[in-house]
Amino acid sequence: MSTGETRKKLESRGFSPNKRFGQNFLTDENVLDGIVDAAGIEPADTVLEIGPGTGALTKRLAKRAAKVIAVEIDRGLAGMLEEEFRDDEHVRIICGDILKTDLGALLKEHAPVKVVANLPYYITTPILLELLPKENLFESFVIMIQKEVADRMSAAPGNKDYGALSLVIQYYGKPRIVMEVPPSAFYPAPEVTSSVVRIDRHETPPVDTKDPDRMFAVIRAAFGKRRKTLANAVSSDPGLEISAAGMRSALRSMGLDEAVRGEALSLSDYAGLCDRLFLS
Ligand code: SAM
Repeated sequence: MSTGETRKKLESRGFSPNKRFGQNFLTDENVLDGIVDAAGIEPADTVLEIGPGTGALTKRLAKRAAKVIAVEIDRGLAGMLEEEFRDDEHVRIICGDILKTDLGALLKEHAPVKVVANLPYYITTPILLELLPKENLFESFVIMIQKEVADRMSAAPGNKDYGALSLVIQYYGKPRIVMEVPPSAFYPAPEVTSSVVRIDRHETPPVDTKDPDRMFAVIRAAFGKRRKTLANAVSSDPGLEISAAGMRSALRSMGLDEAVRGEALSLSDYAGLCDRLFLS
């Protein structure tokens, strides 16, 4: 749907893009096709679409998947889509907030599903971090996010964008930037450049750590104070109760410099560090 068609579709029902729900609708046909291609949908797949909006992606997904389950928070848009897809048994529209939806119950007959989402940017990362840890429900995610966030998710150690988000995302899956999307691809145009990212969820995490949540707490502390050494940043976090001496000894036992900074460590270094810190 072009910008003109999208606007017409909304206006004919008395709708206009609602800022509260972060509504920037995709109107560029190449980008829409590129997202669906990136999702790699097979005929037997079920797709969970989050935030279908005017249905531009939904229509394309329905042509390829066995089932599309689309969750839309905006009652007006959800009603419009229900009407549009009433006779299409491939598509189920649900009006609701994805964060308040019981996804286990919704997807249990279909899991693992592929997720496709172009959501408001302020909730995309929290939603992803909520969904990624859920075992057996999701196979892959194709999401649209701010370019800078996509760069952070996929960064490796040594890269300027490498940080806590890179490590958490890469613990659960393998991210790959599919394409950059300019503001002109949307109606209304957002202020930022976006990227489409595909994340394939790991069947088993690439590192073995006894307590991933505690490892993430160490990682967040490590990157929370970037100017400090890793030992100082982690030991000065009151929630962790790890001494500077304990940190230094763990680093030494790994053959790392006591003054190393958090950005020098890989995911497997963090797993090794946490096992030394918490199991000794
Ligand atoms: N996917 C459509 C597209 O590409 O044109 C719409 C994209 S628009 C950026 C985001 C959509 O997500 C809107 O339709 C909005 O109403 C919906 N949305 C926002 N928050 C949501 C939530 N918590 N749960 C479900 N849908 C949500």
